[in-house]
Amino acid sequence: MRPIVLLGATGSIGSQTRDVVARNGWDIVGLAARSASEELLGAAAEFPDASVAVADPTDEGRRRLQSALGARVDFGPDAVDALAAHSGAIVVNGIVGAAGLRASVTALESGNRLALANKETLVAGGPVVVAAAARGGGEIVPIDSEHSALWQCLVGERRGDVRRLILTASGGPFRSRTPAELEEVTVAEALNHPTWSMGPRITVDSATLLNKALEVIEAHYLFDVSYDAIDVVVHPESIVHSMVEYVDGAIIAELGAPDMRLPIQYALTYPDRMSVPPNRFDFTAQNLTFYEPDTETFRCLALGYAAGRAGGSAPAVLNAADEVAVAAFLEQRIGFLQIADVIEATLDTVEHGPVENIADVVAYDAEARRVAAQWIAGTE
Ligand code: NDP
Ligand code: MG
Repeated sequence: MRPIVLLGATGSIGSQTRDVVARNGWDIVGLAARSASEELLGAAAEFPDASVAVADPTDEGRRRLQSALGARVDFGPDAVDALAAHSGAIVVNGIVGAAGLRASVTALESGNRLALANKETLVAGGPVVVAAAARGGGEIVPIDSEHSALWQCLVGERRGDVRRLILTASGGPFRSRTPAELEEVTVAEALNHPTWSMGPRITVDSATLLNKALEVIEAHYLFDVSYDAIDVVVHPESIVHSMVEYVDGAIIAELGAPDMRLPIQYALTYPDRMSVPPNRFDFTAQNLTFYEPDTETFRCLALGYAAGRAGGSAPAVLNAADEVAVAAFLEQRIGFLQIADVIEATLDTVEHGPVENIADVVAYDAEARRVAAQWIAGTE
């Protein structure tokens, strides 16, 4: 196994990656997180050879880690970047938010394999990331379950034979609710995802369908497929993880119980597959159902397609506005339905333009955050 660097080591993707690495007896050479948490100290103890980077510690946290880890630990975004540049590595990016973009670009410019969970990398910085991979010779492999499924359905096929990608969406906890019912939903209800256990932002994004919008944009950049050829179907059981339809009408799907450890492991071992203890899938235990997404109630999906088609700065603005809106929702400053209002208002207000480098993305991201925060303050 190549050296593994794990960014976002303390999160949902991070802890599941540590599981996969430990059960296969592999090692981790670099661990990164934002803060100096107990969880990070635990991860550092689990992988004693790993260098540790902490992007944004408090003074107290910095002292605590320095005394526990000595020369193994370094601080600030540059320290995270240095891990992403580790020669010959597979860099798992499980950072949440736009902060993940820079490390992704560094990994690709260094010629590394980027095992990508961080959505914002391709959503906010698609053209920049694709260019970084071409420049540095790095390779992007997806971890997100839908994209891993699409990738597995595409292995060995000719891209020219693809008619469309079909992303499945669980529909989240509010799938069949009306707008009036959605007005009242609480933070606790939004955080209670029916099929996947994930970090708070992506869980709320799954409830609004904004997560699926981000995934459509990611799929566009990962597989170089036009938005007209990317469809979304709601599939509450999350058993079919996504599908590819070919020009002859054949539809290839990847199925299984929802468990992120499979796509994480495949991203690390591709093109090999590593054996895990068998867990026979019972096809008779459930019905698989499919529905058209309700884009009038769940407006975030339509906003995402529009931002994706507009290209340039629009997806970065969409993402930043959503980060601010979800944080405000979690703090109970806005209601669930207002998340879409914040995104729409921000997309309408921030001037559209091209993104050619990380600085462009950072500038649009900052402007979108400012506009979104102002819109939210105006409602209070
Ligand atoms: P979590 O909130 O559980 O974890 C986020 C991780 O990122 C934490 O380790 C956090 O550190 C770290 N982090 C935050 N900011 C920085 C920074 N500036 N530098 C370094 N590390 C940082 O999120 P998830 O694991 O759920 O999601 C991570 C990404 O993967 C998201 O983009 C999400 O959309 C995507 N994803 C997640 C899936 C899942 O099943 N969870 C599925 C598909 C995609 P700290 O603990 O110190 O704050
Ligand atoms: Mg997903």
